[in-house]
Parts: sequence; structure tokens; C-alpha cells
Amino acid sequence: MIILVVNAGSSSLKYQLINMDDESVLAKGNCDRIGIDGHIAHKAADGRTLDEDCSFPTHTEAFMKLVEALTKSSAKVIDSMDEISAVGHRIVQGADVFDKSVLVTDEVIEKIDELRELAPVHNHAHALALRACKSVIPANVPQVVVFDTAFHQTMPPKAFMFGLPYEDYETYHVRKYGFHGTSHRFVSKALAKAMGKNVEDLKIVSCHLGNGSSITAVDGGKSVDTSMGFTPLDGVVMGTRTGAVDPSAVTFVADKHGFTPSQMSEYMNKKSGFLGVSGVGSDNRDVQSAANEGNKRAQLVSDMLVYEIKKYIGSYAAAMNGLDAILFTGGIGENSWEVREGVCTDMDYFGIKIDKELNRSVRGKLTKLSTPDSKIEVWIVPTNEELLIARDTLELISK
Ligand code: ADP
Repeated sequence: MIILVVNAGSSSLKYQLINMDDESVLAKGNCDRIGIDGHIAHKAADGRTLDEDCSFPTHTEAFMKLVEALTKSSAKVIDSMDEISAVGHRIVQGADVFDKSVLVTDEVIEKIDELRELAPVHNHAHALALRACKSVIPANVPQVVVFDTAFHQTMPPKAFMFGLPYEDYETYHVRKYGFHGTSHRFVSKALAKAMGKNVEDLKIVSCHLGNGSSITAVDGGKSVDTSMGFTPLDGVVMGTRTGAVDPSAVTFVADKHGFTPSQMSEYMNKKSGFLGVSGVGSDNRDVQSAANEGNKRAQLVSDMLVYEIKKYIGSYAAAMNGLDAILFTGGIGENSWEVREGVCTDMDYFGIKIDKELNRSVRGKLTKLSTPDSKIEVWIVPTNEELLIARDTLELISK
């Protein structure tokens, strides 16, 4: 059984074709610069590639190209779209409307589009892509949507409410939603399996650290709190995003620069974080190597990230009244031994001990880093959001 997984942005359409018999990736690619000009980069599992400038006025043309790449190009992997059993879509914001993955209907697409006020960059693009997909993919192929926010719908009100007047929650739905839910769900389950335990019996702090980073408290397999909030701007310092800031500093800085609300949002989302503090760049590798060469601001932002993660671990251990395991995932979590070592250093009060040699030598693979006498297990658990989307899709269409 073959499933197409789609991750649509406002100007891009990333995809993977997955054979669910062995969960192998048959092909993957990206149609980008939609609405500008257009380009496809496609790669089959055997190494054949397609790299072409195209014309993508809308998501529909990008979908048509994706179909051509998969079925007709020199790097094709199937003969016809009839070989595909279903399409799974990643959706950023499901708010409190969607607490699990669902089959796509016209009503579901409308609802996703209506939620665009809460995720201006993403949800409208998802709706456009869903409609385009419907017009291009055979009508008998079911589609499923998987939400970044759904896993966090188990958070209790005391964790998701802000101290704003209650009317703003009722009228404008202003509350913490949390993101990266697909990843946190995937890795917490994978960790339980690796530990030989049921996820229902574990208290886990899941650290997804990439360009965007979020930390989640997973108690008994359910998200009970998470660091990202109303939008993916909250929490720890990120590539170009501030993370948490005193709201008064926000209004103060906006006033000093004469920024409108949307200019201030752009400033905090695109110009801040690693980039803004270090002045070096947004990529952890660049910041880390600058820090190693003695750049003080690069060192500072690296220290900030580590310190903030430690504080989340402490607060989530308190929130869950216990902690069995910490996991690291995402580009930084899986690859940066410096960040993992920093987070696990001076954590004796929690009884956290890792094998430093091992930690320095592994990257991107499922590994237990804690020593046998560590009170809390520490693991690297590689994430695979596309696979989870494909698994959810398979489960829903099998019902
Ligand atoms: P996104 O949030 O866009 O999905 P990723 O999860 O791909 O991001 O993570 C990107 C981050 O991972 C970048 O900051 C990058 O520097 C970092 N990263 C990737 N590989 C390494 C590595 N080998 N060592 C340190 N950091 C790495």
C-alpha cells in the first residue's frame, strides 16, 4: 500500500511517497516558489533525480507537476496515481476544533481555512493545497489531515490559559495550542518502545530542537504542557524566533522602533533568536562554530538555549510530579552533542548522568545516553513526522 504525504506551505509543497508495506520512502521532493515562478526538486529512492524550473502560479500547477514527477518523469516511481491508496496532509493549526487526525471532506477544508486567523502563514495555504489536491488526485483516493496541534489538546485549562481577560479566550480563542505535536507523539511512543515500557506508564520530557524548538511534558502518553503557545513563537530561543519575552518588552520595543503589530511580529519571528542575539546567523552549526572560535554573543545564545531547556525540564518534572526520561529530537536535538551535554550537566539534583563519550560520538540515531546508574533515562530519538502522518492516514482509511 502506497501513501503520499504532503506538507504544504504558502509557497512550497514538500512530499514523500511511502510504501507502507515496509515503511520505505519511494520518492521525496519539493515544489517551491509557488506564486513566484516555480521549481521542483524530486528524488527517487534509487538516486534518480529531477531538478527543473517550472511555472507554478498556484498550488494546483505544483500538484500537477508532482503527479508528473511521480508517474511520468525520468525519475518516476509509479505508473499511475491509481497506485496510491491515500494522501496524508500535515496541517499546522487545528485549534480546539480538531483533537485528532480526520478524513478530508469539504467541511473539513472549510474549517481549516476558517482557522487561518490563528495561523496566517499556514492554514490558508493548507486549504489551497487541499483543494488543489482534490482537483488533481483521483476522486476515489481518500485524503487525511494530521494536525500539529492535535496532540496538545489533552492539556488541562490551567496549562493552556493565559492571564488575559476570559472574554479574549471566548471571543478570539486566545490560548496556548502548542505545536510539533506530530513529532512529540511519534518520539514519545518510539522512546517507550525502546525502553521496553508502555507509554502510559512513563513521564517524559520531549525536547524537539530544530529551527523551531518546543519542549513537551508527556505524562502517560498525553501532552500535559508544552513550551510553544498561541503560535510557535513562545518557549525557548530559536533560529530566528525570540521564544518567551516579557510582553512589556514587546510593546516597549515596538514603540521605540515605531513598529506596527505585524512589523513587530516579523521582528520577533524572523530577526531574533540565534540570529538576533549572536549576529552570526540562525543555523545552530554556524552559531556553535562561532562560539568555538570565541564569539561571545554566539556563546551567549547557545548558553541561553541550554539554560532555558534545563528550566523547562525542572518545571515539567514538577508539573508531572516525576520524570522517567528525557528525549532529544529534531536537527539540533539529534545532532548537537554540545546542546545535549549542556542540558545534562549540573543536573545531579535530578540524578541525571550521561555517558559523555557516547554522547559526543552519536548523531541522528536512537541511542540511550544515560548511564545505568542515572535516575532518569536520557535518549536521542530521531523524529519522522512524515511516517507518523502516513501511519495515521493508513489507520483512518483502514477503519
Ligand atoms: P526545522 O525546525 O526547520 O525542521 P531541523 O529540525 O531540520 O529544523 O533543525 C535544523 C537545525 O539543526 C539547524 O539549526 C541546524 O544547524 C541544526 N543541525 C543540523 N545538523 C547539525 C549538526 N550536525 N550539528 C549541530 N546542529 C545541527
